[in-house]
Amino acid sequence: MLNNNIVPFADLSRTYLPLKNEINQAIQKVIDSSAFILGIEVEKFENKFSKYLKVKYCAGVSSGTSALQMALKACNIGNGDEVITTSHSWVSTAEAISNVGAKPIFVDIDKDSYNIDPKKIKKHISKKTKCILPVHLYGNPADMKQICKIAKENKLFVIEDAAQAHGAKIDDKFCGTFGDLACFSFFPSKNLGSFGDAGAVVGNNKRLVENVKKLRDHGRISKNKFGLLGLNERMDGIQAAVLNVKIKHLEKYIKSRINIAKIYSKLLYNDCITPTIFDKSRHSFHIYPILVKKREYILKKLRDNKIDARIHYPIPIYRQPLYQKEYQNFSLPITDLVAKQQISLPIFPGMKEHEINAVTKCLKNILDGL
Ligand SMILES: *Cc1c(COP(=O)(O)O)cnc(C)c1O
Repeated sequence: MLNNNIVPFADLSRTYLPLKNEINQAIQKVIDSSAFILGIEVEKFENKFSKYLKVKYCAGVSSGTSALQMALKACNIGNGDEVITTSHSWVSTAEAISNVGAKPIFVDIDKDSYNIDPKKIKKHISKKTKCILPVHLYGNPADMKQICKIAKENKLFVIEDAAQAHGAKIDDKFCGTFGDLACFSFFPSKNLGSFGDAGAVVGNNKRLVENVKKLRDHGRISKNKFGLLGLNERMDGIQAAVLNVKIKHLEKYIKSRINIAKIYSKLLYNDCITPTIFDKSRHSFHIYPILVKKREYILKKLRDNKIDARIHYPIPIYRQPLYQKEYQNFSLPITDLVAKQQISLPIFPGMKEHEINAVTKCLKNILDGL
């Protein structure tokens, strides 16, 4: 479909076209070898991705959502258990917790990081709590130092939702290497994207990642033996082949996002609330979020000017029809505020300078006219 926006929200062809021949050949190779599910390309990717993150083990799975679900199962989290998490995220974060039979306990976010506020975690810990599941939302690292400290004191698992945080770091250590396990998504538009659904679970605990490898393959423990109740959530060879080409360029993609974010922040700093960059951390800018008042009006004006800005996310998970009844007594004021004021500006590797300028110029005009 032809995109008639002047500035698209994202344009995946900008990363595909320069690698077209290499990616097409990699896909053809998988077809020629018929290694469609798991197989050599998936193993290769698991090695490459764990090497990139400097983490010991990686299991390639079928999506970020299945990664979360299997990470929880691998830690034996299920019926009757509680998992502390954030309501300001993509629905998968809570969906995975509910799907294993556990209950998500939503904690409000910090007003600057938009991530779970560690100061508010302790009062939600109960006898049923098994795990803290922070999200590095937008590519901004959650406060893993505090979260891991609280988890250790209370003997809780930490599972990171790093689906938006490939390449994000705290103190030179990659997001996805702090918890017992971490989950990544390779949904096409993520910082590292495949050509369909794919995901990974990573960690330094061999037993836990081995558990995920069994779970993704029907609970298989040897060729004809099935030892635990599993799922069919394996990574495809074609997705792994695409990722094996693109991962070589991941650092370049991240740096490109960071550069665009720097320009945005410099030009918009006085006009709206721009993202806070925390000391010693690397925000990988899967999303460039701003906060504004009169959000709906501004968004409409941007779109009238063919600038494809979006919202992540307009309805907090605890207010979704799926959850609203169960959580009607919950109140998460900062989550509600950010959901009401947030706009995601276009950001993607290969974005041109004139496109960045078109966004900032248009946005400044709208804000000046308020
Ligand atoms: C994308 C995403 C997921 C789910 O990943 P899929 O691969 O689409 O299943 C989970 N959590 C967050 C925060 C995400 O952005």
